[in-house]
Amino acid sequence: SKNLLEISGLKKYFPVKQGFLGSKTGNVQAVDDVTFTMKKGETLGLVGESGCGKSTTGRTIIRLYEPTAGQIIFDGQDIGKLSQKQLLPYRKRMQMIFQDPYASLNSRMTVGDIIGEPLDIHGIAKGNERMDRIHNLLETVGLSGDHANRYPHEFSGGQRQRVGIARALAVEPDFIIADEPISALDVSIQAQVVNMLEDLKDKRGLTYLFIAHDLSMVKHISDRIGVMYLGKLVEIAGSDELYYKPQHPYTQALLSAIPVADPDSAKKSSRIILEGDVPSPLNPPLGCRFRSRCRYAMDICKEAEPVLRDVGAGHCVACHLIDR
Ligand code: SF4
Ligand code: MG
Repeated sequence: SKNLLEISGLKKYFPVKQGFLGSKTGNVQAVDDVTFTMKKGETLGLVGESGCGKSTTGRTIIRLYEPTAGQIIFDGQDIGKLSQKQLLPYRKRMQMIFQDPYASLNSRMTVGDIIGEPLDIHGIAKGNERMDRIHNLLETVGLSGDHANRYPHEFSGGQRQRVGIARALAVEPDFIIADEPISALDVSIQAQVVNMLEDLKDKRGLTYLFIAHDLSMVKHISDRIGVMYLGKLVEIAGSDELYYKPQHPYTQALLSAIPVADPDSAKKSSRIILEGDVPSPLNPPLGCRFRSRCRYAMDICKEAEPVLRDVGAGHCVACHLIDR
């Protein structure tokens, strides 16, 4: 099927002034030359440690951050350079669910007005129709219409995240970026929220970019998974392929940290402990950014940056090992 999203050479640098972070100047290369596509209706999991640039990638795609360079093609249109006004119809189609359901909801607004706000911004519904929609949205996410008059503090974390999801769905988007939507929730309710997101995806034909630090969680819900390290996309593949045949040393280390429930599972390798420091994303070193922690690092890894290459059937890896 058709690509809904095509990201190429995406960069997001944050300039740093003198005196900050040990007096160096330069750019924090939060996202550096990231390229991937997403098909309509698929879920792409994006994983990596905190600070690897996965959230910044998501936020730059929907232009909450201005891209430093690169292309963002959404449904055939390059949205990277559109004015805020031109962007409005695309904003309606691309919505975000945030990590922290405590911080992302305005505590002074009723839940009804929180969900209704995007309807107002996009001029979608007023009066009774607006109220009906809000009630339907609350029911869609497993809450009651009566909850519309209450305030966020009256809800549990899981319920607040449901409100965040209802708000994202209000404008009937086709693309949703879920930025660690369950990380802040109790383990006991994480599965409920994930199941609801999957259910909504099927019913509404949504496409998800699902950001997480936990590979075991995205494995279950993703069609494909991308792994980021220090601003770079280092590997991307179909979910099973990545899980059972990881090729990048960093992906192998992340996977080795997942406990194996089934002793006969194909994943028999023991845990790989990553040693060495993570370099600063401010003016990162030449060569491979993972080399300070990589047990396979070679001379070439100091000099040349590995490029993302297709090793077969859309499995792409950025590592000099695959060139040998
Ligand atoms: Fe390790 Fe070199 Fe591959 Fe980087 S390019 S992951 S340092 S082997
Ligand atoms: Mg984040």
